[in-house]
Amino acid sequence: MSTLHYDVIVAGLGAMGSQTLAHLARRGVRAIGFDRFAPPHDQGSSHGKSRIIREAYFEDPIYVPLVRRAYECWAELEAESGRTLLRRTGGLCYGPPAGELVSGARRSAELHGVAHEVLDAAALRARFPAFVFDDDWTGVLEPRAGMLDPEASIAAALGVAAGRGATVRTGEPVLRWRQEGDGVVVETGQGRYEADQLVLSAGMWIGDLVRELALPVTVQRNVLYWFTPRRDSRLFAPDRFPVFLGDLAADVMWYGFPDTGDGVKVALHHHGPAVTPETVDRHVAEHEVEHLRGLLQRHLPAANGALRETGVCTYTNVPDEHFVIDRHPQASRVLVASPCSGHGFKFSSAIGEVLADLVTTGRSRFDLAPFAIGRFVR
Ligand SMILES: Cc1cc2nc3c(=O)[nH]c(=O)nc-3n(C[C@H](O)[C@H](O)[C@H](O)COP(=O)(O)OP(=O)(O)OC[C@H]3O[C@@H](n4cnc5c(N)ncnc54)[C@H](O)[C@@H]3O)c2cc1C
Repeated sequence: MSTLHYDVIVAGLGAMGSQTLAHLARRGVRAIGFDRFAPPHDQGSSHGKSRIIREAYFEDPIYVPLVRRAYECWAELEAESGRTLLRRTGGLCYGPPAGELVSGARRSAELHGVAHEVLDAAALRARFPAFVFDDDWTGVLEPRAGMLDPEASIAAALGVAAGRGATVRTGEPVLRWRQEGDGVVVETGQGRYEADQLVLSAGMWIGDLVRELALPVTVQRNVLYWFTPRRDSRLFAPDRFPVFLGDLAADVMWYGFPDTGDGVKVALHHHGPAVTPETVDRHVAEHEVEHLRGLLQRHLPAANGALRETGVCTYTNVPDEHFVIDRHPQASRVLVASPCSGHGFKFSSAIGEVLADLVTTGRSRFDLAPFAIGRFVR
C-alpha cells in the first residue's frame, strides 16, 4: 500500500472539522480530511436545520470574544461560498431573573457591552404574545442573535476547502493513528497516510480515537420537534418571533426557533439519556412527544398544532460543559477538537480558525485554558 504525505490530516468533517479544513486550505496548507459518513449527514451532532447563535452567553462570559470572531468568520464563509448561512432573528433568554439563564445572559452582556434589552413580564407579553410568561419572569433580548443552517454551513465549508485544494474523503473512517518521528501516521480502511500534524474532530466518536486519554465524555441523546402552529401562525414568523431559550423550571431549559417554513422547532436543552454512538435510539416515542406537548400547551400554546417532524441528535458532554480544544498531552503533533457539550455549533467557524492557527503558528489569539485537556488528564 503506498503512503501519501500531507501537511495536515483532519479526522472528522462535521461542524469543527469542515471549518478547520476550510481555514487550512485558505492558507495554502496541503490538507486532507476524512469522514466516516458523507457530511453533512444526520448521524452526528450537526443536523436538524437550525442552530442558535447568540452573544449574551449565559454559560460563561469567556465565550463572548470567540463568538464575536465566529460572526466575522460566518460572514466570510457566506461571502466566499455565496450561501446565506446565518439569519438574524434576535434572541430571547427568559425565565426567573436570578436563574442561570437570565442572570448569566445579563452578566455576559454587561461585561462585554453586548447590545441587549432587559424586559419585564409586561414588556415581554407586549413584544412576544405567543409566549406565556410568569409574572416574575424577565427576558434578555439581543438583536444580533439568530439562526445558522448547520447542513448548509458544513457543505459550504467543505466546498471552500475542496475549491482551495484540500482533499475531502468521505465514507472513510480513521481507524487508528500514531505519532512517528516528526509526524503522524493515520490508517483508514482504505489506506495509510502521513502528515506533519493531525486534527481529531470526531464529535461523539472522539473517545474511540483517544482511548489513552480516557476523557470523561458522555454522549447524550436529544430530541428535536417541529410543530405546525395551531393558530396565529403569523406570530411565529422570523420577523416577529426570535430564537429563544427559556428557563422553565429547575433543570428544565428549552429552546426554539421561528417558523421558516418547516414549523416551529422546539427542544429541551441537556435533557436525555446517556447513550453511545452505537446505541443511540433514533426513534422518538409517543411519551416524549406528549411531554413536549405539555410544555408547549403551558408555555407556547399557539404552537401546539400538528407534529410535522422529529429528529434525534447527540450532545458530546464533559462534566464542566465547556469545550475540549487542545494539543494531545502525549502526542505533540496531534490536536483534539471535540467535544462541545451541546453548544458548539455557533463557534465552529472560529474554532476552525483557532485550529488552523494552532497548526500553522502554534498559538491562538484566544485563551484556550478553559478548554485544556489537562483539567481532566494529568
Ligand atoms: C439537538 C442539538 C441542538 C444543538 N443546538 C445548538 C445550538 O443551537 N447552537 C450551538 O451553537 N450548538 C448547538 N448544538 C451543539 C453543536 O451542534 C455541536 O457542538 C457541534 O455540531 C459538534 O460538532 P462536531 O464537529 O464536534 O461533531 P459532528 O458535527 O458530529 O462531527 C463529527 C464528525 O466526525 C466524523 N467521524 C467520527 N469518527 C470518525 C472517524 N473515526 N474517522 C473519520 N470521521 C469520523 C463523523 O461522521 C462526523 O461527521 C446542538 C447539538 C444538538 C445535538
